[in-house]
Amino acid sequence: MFYTSTRDKSIKVTASQAIAQGISEEGGLFVPCELPQFSIEKIEAMTEMSYIDRAKTVLKEFLTDFTEEELNYCVEGAYSAEKFSSQAVAPTVNICGNKNILELWHGPTCAFKDMALQLLPYLMTVSAKKTADGKTIVILVATSGDTGKAALEGFKNVADTKILVFYPVDGVSPMQKLQMLTQEGENVSVCAINGNFDDAQSAVKTIFTDSEIKAELAAKNMMFSSANSINWGRLVPQIVYYFSTYCDMISMGNIKAGEEINVVVPTGNFGNILAGYYAKKMGLPVKMLICASNSNNVLTDFLKTGTYDRNRSFYTTTSPSMDILISSNLERLLYHMSGENDVLVSDLMKQLSENGKYSVSENLIAEIQKTFDAGFTPECDVDSTIKEHFEKYNYLCDTHTAVAVKVYEDYVKRTGDDVQTVIDSTASPYKFSKSVLSAVLGGKTPDLDEFDMVDELNRITGADVPEPLANLKDKPVRFDNVCNKENMSEMVFKLLNL
Ligand SMILES: *Cc1c(COP(=O)(O)O)cnc(C)c1O
Repeated sequence: MFYTSTRDKSIKVTASQAIAQGISEEGGLFVPCELPQFSIEKIEAMTEMSYIDRAKTVLKEFLTDFTEEELNYCVEGAYSAEKFSSQAVAPTVNICGNKNILELWHGPTCAFKDMALQLLPYLMTVSAKKTADGKTIVILVATSGDTGKAALEGFKNVADTKILVFYPVDGVSPMQKLQMLTQEGENVSVCAINGNFDDAQSAVKTIFTDSEIKAELAAKNMMFSSANSINWGRLVPQIVYYFSTYCDMISMGNIKAGEEINVVVPTGNFGNILAGYYAKKMGLPVKMLICASNSNNVLTDFLKTGTYDRNRSFYTTTSPSMDILISSNLERLLYHMSGENDVLVSDLMKQLSENGKYSVSENLIAEIQKTFDAGFTPECDVDSTIKEHFEKYNYLCDTHTAVAVKVYEDYVKRTGDDVQTVIDSTASPYKFSKSVLSAVLGGKTPDLDEFDMVDELNRITGADVPEPLANLKDKPVRFDNVCNKENMSEMVFKLLNL
């Protein structure tokens, strides 16, 4: 299996090269040249397997330059019982009738990013041994909240790696901020930036492709890589849980093998939903992929009209991990859906960086709409969805999941589609205790500190508090760096002691 770039398909690299490098030289994203195919029989055989074995079955088709021992070491290390509080790793819960929730937040940082970021450090260190001979890998992360913590936790004290995380100073929840600022580990640094997530992400991308900076690092025997979902090693682990939930839906008796399901994904950078698209292309019976956005509904507009336009107000919402106006992984979808047209993708991405806007042809958007539906949930509906869903089903959702639940309800009203549906739940409600508590209380926000808020939410709802969040209370704050987006590259040098 080889990988190429969305902006230059003459490029051909192995999985380990794609993962160690993170992003292609000319700024394109690595994509698989072809997709492995899974028959219904093969999928059905996976119902008997543990999550770890399902992961091995899917990943070995993609990571063909890893030995079996290497892959086993990676997958068993990543999804061990010490790290995931649920034995199923990613359990599927039936809410009622056709509505199911796939809980992706049982990992150490309580958000779905753990599904990929527990595995990525393993994939990356194995890849680096094959391709980067002895260089220290410097992971640069721009985060809207959850990636940063999950990456820090995944990479902490991993030999021959360093990790630097940049987050928007006012763009993350208090719990997210505390999770990052208390991060343990010898090889980790965290810095706030005066700007929003898109500023942080754009600056990181610029630093990555700056040849002077790269040369300075190389002189010190270091190289950059990325833990953002532009890295193929972030995306490929996410394909696994779509197969896994499908198997669980068979085991639960919700569907028969071969029957189609819908998938609803609370979306930001388009990584999670793109993994669902890959699963569908590999033969998983998925009917529609429903892209759910919050008030930052640039993707809803794109999927409805074919015009992507980031020139709009940026809203800071109660679902901060989806406060994104440049969804990087859409580039990969455009590449696949346009018949692998690297020239077109390069041109669209150039328009996006120069004018903040592009339009695709009517044919292309019509093709995309055959698979992708879209909707968004305005802020005023997030709270009522959390409250109603809790009162009706005794199931507590976080703000991101609530965005998806509401988009799904609207979708069913609009289309009458009644196939069995999986809604991705991407964070523990306790990561956003203030918003969730205030929603459950019908808009009243009690004047409590973050941890009293957690206790109060637990008292009212009875939902379990994940241990890693409860334990934060006693940890010391380790970082107080702040910088402007223009000065990020200097900060990188400072944090690396260069
Ligand atoms: C990252 C994140 C998302 C968005 O996922 P993408 O893959 O970026 O689309 C949604 N919800 C939560 C809680 C997240 O952490």
